[in-house]
Amino acid sequence: MPAASSHPSRSSHPSVVIPASLLPSDGRFGSGPSKVRPAQVAALAAAGDPAAPVLGTSHRQPAVKDLVRRVRAGLGELFALPDGYEVALGNGGSSAFWEVAAACLVERRAQHAVFGEFGGKFAAATTRAPFLADPDVVSAEPGTVAHLTPVDGVDVYATPHNETSTGAMAPVRQVPGARADGALLLVDATSGAGALPVDVADTDVYYFGPQKVFGADGGLWLAACSPAAVERAERVEASAGTATGRWVPEFLSLTTALANSRLDQTLNTPAVATLVLLAEQVEWLLEQGGLAWSSARTGESAGVLYDWADARDWATPFVADPAERSTVVATIDLDDAIDATAVVRVLRENGVVDVFPYRKLGRNQLRVGVFPAVEPDDVRALTACVDHVVAHLG
Ligand SMILES: *Cc1c(COP(=O)(O)O)cnc(C)c1O
Repeated sequence: MPAASSHPSRSSHPSVVIPASLLPSDGRFGSGPSKVRPAQVAALAAAGDPAAPVLGTSHRQPAVKDLVRRVRAGLGELFALPDGYEVALGNGGSSAFWEVAAACLVERRAQHAVFGEFGGKFAAATTRAPFLADPDVVSAEPGTVAHLTPVDGVDVYATPHNETSTGAMAPVRQVPGARADGALLLVDATSGAGALPVDVADTDVYYFGPQKVFGADGGLWLAACSPAAVERAERVEASAGTATGRWVPEFLSLTTALANSRLDQTLNTPAVATLVLLAEQVEWLLEQGGLAWSSARTGESAGVLYDWADARDWATPFVADPAERSTVVATIDLDDAIDATAVVRVLRENGVVDVFPYRKLGRNQLRVGVFPAVEPDDVRALTACVDHVVAHLG
């Protein structure tokens, strides 16, 4: 009987055994929650030290407020935020932020670029809001990118930076004429923020969660907000309670989130452990060289995968246009003769996890999260593992 692996996700009887020499040093390649670095986990353990505890203490006291301060200051530096931009945060993740934006930022009508599940979910949120006109939806087939275009009467333009469900990324740029018209640009950077090049000054809200590039847990939303976005929220929310105003639940109030964030707090109790992991990762990214370093590193990792696929006659990058291929979430289609589900299963049996495609996309595909925590050499090892599994699946 083979010795049982100490890795819990590693089966003691894999149907194909990947030689240890081929395995990555860390087998986590998920698109979120993604690999958490051991140093982050060590910081978490230190935060629980009874001699200087942070975990298990009040979020209204200096120890936890200092964590929020580190996160806000670190993100400000990472994104070189222009004067007047503020980092707000709250509970509920990016999905909650869509409702915050529908309640507090869209005045009458939004335009959404939809080229995958996540862009579509925000469009669904503004469609459901009874006080908003139906949004203008610019859509494109999965594996391509939809681009925002100026339309009269639109006061919020919204696009994903990286569409995690398909592995397509869009450049962040202003919509021509939109700023002059007073419209805002909201960018869902949940899986891109911190590893894709961006000039946040071109956006009004650049928002994300901690569980992808930042290798922390989910459950928080973070948003870099321009003065115009803050002013919009103040105006929209001021109408609440008037005869013509909309109801903005306190939990979804951006001005309330901003007021708390300015005090390095959140409206209600945050997951303190998530903040510890996040603060560590933000500071690690800054120490390594910031956004330039992380974009180069994820670009290298993604390049390994795309080049590998190009060199196999049974693998193809899903996103046809190289400029639209994500450098943080790489999607690789496999030939129909190879069962991607079986490949994903065998990899998991060997401790290499979470390279399944986005469920609703329904493709015979591998999807690999190559966030900055992932070592490019581990991505090289992953390609060797896939070669081995495909050769031995029979
Ligand atoms: C993961 C993801 C989300 C959802 O984030 P939650 O924090 O789970 O709500 C939204 N948008 C994009 C682009 C994502 O990758």
